[in-house]
Amino acid sequence: MAEEIKNPIEANNFIEDIIEEELKEGGRCYGKKVHTRFPPEPNGYLHIGHVKALCIDFGMAEKYKGICNLRMDDTNPAKEDDEFVRAIQDDIHWLGFDWDDRFYYASDYFEKMYELAVGLIKKGLAYVCELTPEQVRENRGDLTHPAVSPYRDRPMEESLDLFARMRAGEFEDGKMTLRAKIDLASGNFNMRDPVIYRIHHAEHHRQGNKWCIYPMYDFAHPIEDMLEDITHSLCSLEFEDHRPLYNWVRDNVDYDTNPRQIEFARLGINYTVLSKRKLRQLVEENYVAGWDDPRMPTLCGLRRRGYTPASVRNFVDRIGVAKVPNTVEIALLEHCLREDLNENATRAMAVLRPIKLTITNYPEDKTETFETDNNPTKENGGTHTITFSRNLYIERDDFMEEPIKGYFRFFPGNEVRLKSAYVVRCTGCVKDDAGNVTEVLAEYDPETRGGNTPDGRRVKGTVHWVDANTALDAEVRLYSSLFTDPDPDASGKDFIACLNPESLETLQNCKLEAFLGESKLGDSFQFMRLGYFTQDVDSKPGNLIFNRSVSLKDSFKK
Ligand code: ATP
Ligand code: MG
Repeated sequence: MAEEIKNPIEANNFIEDIIEEELKEGGRCYGKKVHTRFPPEPNGYLHIGHVKALCIDFGMAEKYKGICNLRMDDTNPAKEDDEFVRAIQDDIHWLGFDWDDRFYYASDYFEKMYELAVGLIKKGLAYVCELTPEQVRENRGDLTHPAVSPYRDRPMEESLDLFARMRAGEFEDGKMTLRAKIDLASGNFNMRDPVIYRIHHAEHHRQGNKWCIYPMYDFAHPIEDMLEDITHSLCSLEFEDHRPLYNWVRDNVDYDTNPRQIEFARLGINYTVLSKRKLRQLVEENYVAGWDDPRMPTLCGLRRRGYTPASVRNFVDRIGVAKVPNTVEIALLEHCLREDLNENATRAMAVLRPIKLTITNYPEDKTETFETDNNPTKENGGTHTITFSRNLYIERDDFMEEPIKGYFRFFPGNEVRLKSAYVVRCTGCVKDDAGNVTEVLAEYDPETRGGNTPDGRRVKGTVHWVDANTALDAEVRLYSSLFTDPDPDASGKDFIACLNPESLETLQNCKLEAFLGESKLGDSFQFMRLGYFTQDVDSKPGNLIFNRSVSLKDSFKK
């Protein structure tokens, strides 16, 4: 990755404090390598929230010269798919993280998990319960009454036999479960003899029909961590109440490693949703063009929109790591992108809503060229050539026949600078029968080549333009936020009703300066006065399509 990743947060976060304490002599991890994991469920694409987890998981490993595994948490057969596995890998590599040869599937541990569950039964720490899911719920008790299961004290041999027959497929879904025998009266309901295996006759994306019982997350996850000898199992805050169960499993199954779960606050961003279920619904019900629609907060969407890995990682660095849930402004994410592109994007000119500008005193058959800076923020940013002729395009709203107060662009009699070319004086316009302006007329001053006025006279307005003789036609897509409501993700809210009907504006027949035809997918450009743009994946020579990544105007309040 070419871009340098900045880390403005120098102070330790609370996870770093814990890790450093544990690495000291006498600490839990003394003499060990820090070993983390990123465990996505392959049932959707990664989104910007996952980047926070990724930066913490891979970041902690990097910082302490440890390692980080990539593990597909595929213990739930429903909705898992190899398409998602590949996309997750691509996205993580795009961000600049690498798991080396440590790529795992939790489903590869099913046999071992089964064996450890049998071990719990043998120790009298698990039993087969024949309450249906509804009955388990009805019998879970409340703060003053313990949960009840009539099967809790059945003989261990009976549970062993039933569990083996559950695996063999003798029973239908929901008929029975395996439950950990912990504490029916616990104030933490997760500890009231939680279900650790359920019957589910479903095909698994890798195991096929080998299994019809599947471990529950709270049982599977600590075992996955133990088998991989993870030292720090970092996860988001909703797992905090599950930590006692994580520890119980870790301490009671017959396996001898000692991972520790630490929770951090989930990332929320305003004007978007960050739940895979909701993102999936947007895709499946065609509210967006796919998981990689440039309006989506998915990594593939952000990438298609023109986000860079550096901008996304800087964003996550800036919001920091804490335990307090926080919703971050989308404006900060955009600010980070602008900051990166301001430094790195090539400057170009494009006219999105064109009107003809004719330089009436410029010869018909003449063309001249100008060199313009690719990037004035860089010392050796290079230049490229633009052509100038009698027939140009400017933006429609850069002309007003009767100017409003403070308008310094084209109106009859006014002098305007055509960026990098000449100062011209507007002499009028041409209209069609309906009275619409179809062409703006101007005369250039040959003494002002490069846009300078040798006599020092002031020219207030500078506008961008494109030479009609060499311009390329393109489609340009402008985006605004997918939702009009700042918090569409709030529980209980109908997020579909919060969709912004104007989140995509498609412009046809835009005019681009010629060298943009040679640009590649992934190149970023600043179109002067309009924002930052990048080619869309659907763009082809002869059918160019550009996405606006972000506008120039920064709404982030520092
Ligand atoms: P969703 O709730 O959208 O389905 P998830 O948490 O189920 O997301 P996983 O694939 O299980 O998605 O997530 C992998 C890792 O990413 C987990 O460790 C999870 O804690 C973390 N993660 C997911 N969403 C966020 C978020 N918004 N902020 C921080 N971490 C997150
Ligand atoms: Mg999850």
